[in-house]
Amino acid sequence: MTAPTPTRDFPMHVSVEEARAMLAALLPAPGTETVALDRALGRTLAAPLPALVSHPSATESALDGIACSEADTVGAAPGAPARLRVVGESRAGAPFTGTVGPGECARIYTGAPMPAGTDAICPVEELVDDGPDVLLRRAASPADVRPEGGDFRAGDPVMAAGLHLNAPRVALAAALGHRDVPVRRRRRVALLSTGDEVVEPGEPLSAGQVYDSNRYGLAAMLRESGCDVLMLGHAPDSPDALHAAIERAGGADLLVTSGGVSMGKYDFMRDLLIEHGRVAFWKVRMRPGGPALLGGWQGLPVIGLPGNPVSSLVVFHVIVRPALTGQPVQALTLRAATPFRALPDKTAFWRGVIDGGQVRDYGKQGSGILRSLSDAGALVIVPEGQPVAAGDDVQVVLL
Ligand code: AMP
Ligand code: MG
Repeated sequence: MTAPTPTRDFPMHVSVEEARAMLAALLPAPGTETVALDRALGRTLAAPLPALVSHPSATESALDGIACSEADTVGAAPGAPARLRVVGESRAGAPFTGTVGPGECARIYTGAPMPAGTDAICPVEELVDDGPDVLLRRAASPADVRPEGGDFRAGDPVMAAGLHLNAPRVALAAALGHRDVPVRRRRRVALLSTGDEVVEPGEPLSAGQVYDSNRYGLAAMLRESGCDVLMLGHAPDSPDALHAAIERAGGADLLVTSGGVSMGKYDFMRDLLIEHGRVAFWKVRMRPGGPALLGGWQGLPVIGLPGNPVSSLVVFHVIVRPALTGQPVQALTLRAATPFRALPDKTAFWRGVIDGGQVRDYGKQGSGILRSLSDAGALVIVPEGQPVAAGDDVQVVLL
């Protein structure tokens, strides 16, 4: 293959937001499948989930104690506690079927339905048993009654389509009454590392070589993003080898590559897509991660990430993950404990350490310092040309 002369009739230096939107637009719609709820963790709801029942399903007690009429227990003189006759018991799963009359109460336990004639609870800690009666050290309170449907009512549209199913949401889907849930199909993403110097961990390493951290890091991020990963391994810096590797990604929804997209003579990924595929953009106004490239190879979308380990993982985190999941990047606002410099024409994602509710500069910000991502735990977003002074509020993305 001859060295291609790149033609540059494609956008260059796009913004992070543009890059994200352009990638999302190239991805095929994920389709829907139904999975058992205990397989649904980490998936994305494909349709809204209504409540099939109300929760609580009856008006019930939040405490162990007695249920009675509040009016029977207020206004008792100090030192002369209310005295109520115990006429029955309501347990979770075995309600009291009778009616509690004036001057009476029923023992009740957490989650048990409130008997007819009662509207308040006095907790067991405030009761003194006295034969068939109980003495109340304080008035019974309606605050400890959970109203029927207080959490949700049958028919309520409780969970929206597009919701990421984390552990609390799996619990909520179960409480709504769903044994199976409609979720988006997992996307199938092919993953390829490039570079003559890149070596599989565990193999001997010569001077000038580097272990393939990108493929492992990116595979982990893809799995965190709910994708099935098709491992294409590693290709050397040769157009023919890259060509052959890309052909093996057939059937995937997306190909993610690392390395070979910057300005070097041996950056063949870039040349291959310019020459024989399509390029949607090259270079994003961000650091780390600037040289990223989006394109296509026949029908297959391809995102070419830079080889530098920090760059590839940061581009994945702030561009590829949100495009794949449809979930926005979660940023929080924290006080900067140190200044963070701005770049005139790029959004910076500096590694930051969160400590005592503030975020400070990790220090070594080179895109080859992979430790920084592991040690720092957060990315501080510094918009183009807007330096951050100590004491300013900054937007921070957790890794
Ligand atoms: P490149 O983008 O191909 O010019 O590579 C930039 C830097 O990233 C070089 O120092 C490479 O050795 C390094 N690099 C490339 N691929 C990987 C990889 N898979 N794992 C770790 N480092 C890599
Ligand atoms: Mg390379």
